[in-house]
Formats: sequence, C-alpha cells, structure tokens
Amino acid sequence: MSEETVIIGGGPAGAAAAIKLSRQGMPVRLLERKSGPHHKVCGEFISFEAAQHLEELGVDLAALGAEPIRHVRFYNGENELAFDLPFTAWSLSRRLLDSALIEQAQCAGANVELGTAVKQLSRTDDGWRLVSRRQSSEGQASTAFSAQTVFLASGKHELRNWKRKVEASHRNDLIGLKMHFNPIELQQPQWRNTVEIHLFNGGYAGLEPIEKGRVNLCFLISQDIYKACGGNWPGVLDWLGRTSSHMKQRLATLTPRWCEPLAVSGIPYGYIRSPDDSVPSLFSLGDQAAVIPSFAGDGIAIALHTATLAAHVHAAGGDSSTYQRLAFNDLTQPVREAERLASMLSHRLGRKAAFACARLWPTLPREMILRTRVGLSQLMQ
Ligand SMILES: Cc1cc2nc3c(=O)[nH]c(=O)nc-3n(C[C@H](O)[C@H](O)[C@H](O)COP(=O)(O)OP(=O)(O)OC[C@H]3O[C@@H](n4cnc5c(N)ncnc54)[C@H](O)[C@@H]3O)c2cc1C
Repeated sequence: MSEETVIIGGGPAGAAAAIKLSRQGMPVRLLERKSGPHHKVCGEFISFEAAQHLEELGVDLAALGAEPIRHVRFYNGENELAFDLPFTAWSLSRRLLDSALIEQAQCAGANVELGTAVKQLSRTDDGWRLVSRRQSSEGQASTAFSAQTVFLASGKHELRNWKRKVEASHRNDLIGLKMHFNPIELQQPQWRNTVEIHLFNGGYAGLEPIEKGRVNLCFLISQDIYKACGGNWPGVLDWLGRTSSHMKQRLATLTPRWCEPLAVSGIPYGYIRSPDDSVPSLFSLGDQAAVIPSFAGDGIAIALHTATLAAHVHAAGGDSSTYQRLAFNDLTQPVREAERLASMLSHRLGRKAAFACARLWPTLPREMILRTRVGLSQLMQ
C-alpha cells in the first residue's frame, strides 16, 4: 500500500494540509475535482487569523492585490453602526486565494491532480480504497487505488458513505448568493478598507472591496424569500435594494460582472464533527470538521487551522481521534458564539437590542467579534 497521504479537495483546508505535510517530507497526493481556478460562494473576507496562517503558508496577500480591511459598517434598515476592527483583515477573491494555495502545495512538493474527483471511499482492513474519476478532453477515466491515511477536505460536498451527521437543528432553508461588481469610479474611495454588513430578517448581505477595485456581494436569504422574488436574480436584487436606502444606493452604483450569480444551499451552519464520530486514519478538515455561520467570516481560518492541526498530529504519528478531539475543543466556542450572534441578528428585536447595546458600550462589537475567532489549541502554542 502507498505511503502517500491522500487529500480529497483542494480548497483552503486541503491545500494547506498538503503544504504542511509536504514541507515535513511526507508524500502527499491531493485530488481536486475542478480542473483550474474557479469562484466559490464566499464573502471573500480573510480574517486576521486566516491571514496569519496564509503568511506562514507562503501566500503573500498584498502581492496578490488583496484589500486590507480595517473598518466595519453594520446596517439595520436605516440605522448605521460603524467601528474599527480589532485587527487588520483582508479581502481577496476565492479564485485567486485558492489558486495561490494550490500553487504553494505544488511548490512544496505535493502531487496535485486537478480535474480529478473522488467518487468512492471505502475502508479496508489496513486503510482505504478510493476510486477517482479524471475528466479530460479524451473523456473520463476511473482509477482505483489504496491509501493508509485520508484527509477529507471536500468542503460542503459530501462523499457517498461519509456524509456529515447533521442534526436537525443545524439544517436550514438558506440560500447563499454571490456576485462580483465594478463600482463607478467616483464611488471607489467609499469602499476602501471597509466591509459592510446589511442585516435583515432571516439573513444578511456582505459587501466588500476585492482586488482590482472590484466589489463582492455575498448574501444569505431564505428559500421563501427567493421564491417570493420569482426565483431569479433581478427579482432578488430588487428585493435586496428594498431592505434599506443604503443598499439601494450601493446597488445603483455597481455594475455586475457576471450574467448570473453563484449560488449554494443546504449549508449546515453550527455543525461540528464530534470526536465520537472519528474514524481511524480519516482526518476531516475545514467545512467537514465544522461550519461556522458565514456572518462571522472565519470559515477560511477554520479550514487553515484544522489543516495545520491535522498535519501536525499526523506528522507526529498521532491518530485521527486525537486530532478530532483537539479540533472539537478549538472550534466549539467560536462556532457556538457565532451561532448565537447570527440567531440574534436575524430577528428585528435582536438587531434593535444589539444596536442599542453597541451604542451604550462601544467596545461591545469588538468583544463579540473576538469571541467568534478560532484560537490556537494547546498543542500548537
Ligand atoms: C455564503 C457564504 C459566505 C462565506 N463567507 C466567508 C468569508 O467571507 N470568509 C471566510 O473565512 N469564510 C467564509 N465562508 C466559509 C468558507 O467559504 C468555507 O468555510 C471554506 O471555503 C472551507 O474551506 P474547505 O477547504 O473546507 O472547503 P472548500 O473551500 O469548499 O473546498 C473544498 C474543495 O474540495 C473539492 N471537492 C469537493 N468534493 C470533491 C471530491 N469528491 N473530489 C475531489 N475534490 C472535491 C471542491 O471542488 C473544493 O475545491 C462563507 C461560506 C458561505 C456559504
């Protein structure tokens, strides 16, 4: 059986694990189903913790054209609440970020196979059997192979037989949509260094500048609202513009870059893989380990954090249950805090109370944000 660690998925979690393991001289084979750079539904917000990991992984955010983010503006209808972030964050399209990580994985010596999807994963007496399918101009080719250790980093995509056990309380009817825009030139300075969060019943919309002076809009709405808007992009945009005069103004000065938005649904916010669910030699990373409400903007940090932790444990000869326990300890507080915050802000009265409290105690938003951050586990300190 091959000594290679097989990594399924080349998002931030999979690519970061590939870099870490390869740097330690361990053989790695990373399989990513997409054949090249691609966009993903994401707010494009790179938190301070994520940025620290990325620097260590060799990704130079400034050189890639990322925008530093230092201020936040929250909107609840016509009310505005502005404050400075307790750290400098960054903003960069996932297309550029994920590609930069894959490039670093290749430079570190990982065997990266793009355009290759894992279709089957099954346990054997001494490890794993995988079936992958490669798409090329000549058609599809399936290959079966074995591995002792598998890192599962397929993000929101489930592998047959290895689906996350999502409790009913973590299921929701939300749809995530994303679009890139060009702002009119006069408006460009308004976007500098600032992320805007527009809150409304049941969801939120995030607007932030990305590379090349562009602006990303990413928002969550319920399927009911989506259907009531006619289930189409112009209808949804029109609805969004009616959530506040601020949002209406923003949308009037932005020109969409794509004909259709990217969309995603069935995101199990609040999911955390229990250590009891750990399977020998299977390390679940990133969204396969935990899904923090995206409003907190720390999903990428969780992906990078779990990748670092798993690589550290595996390289030291530890097993997946040790890793899963450490990850569970690190992720539970931030995910639960973010869930509580998201739930409060999704209701009109909760938003009203939050805005009132934040005006009375101006340090409150910063403290709440810090509570949703992923800290380092004892092992890594
Ligand atoms: C609406 C929304 C907004 C968000 N905004 C932010 C934000 O602003 N900031 C932030 O930090 N986080 C944000 N997140 C969360 C963030 O996008 C995820 O937490 C992060 O992408 C998880 O990284 P990952 O590597 O685990 O998974 P992914 O990034 O999803 O990567 C998984 C990879 O695996 C590949 N793959 C899947 N199945 C297979 C297979 N069978 N074989 C081979 N390859 C496979 C996929 O193609 C993909 O490239 C947001 C999420 C949502 C839904």
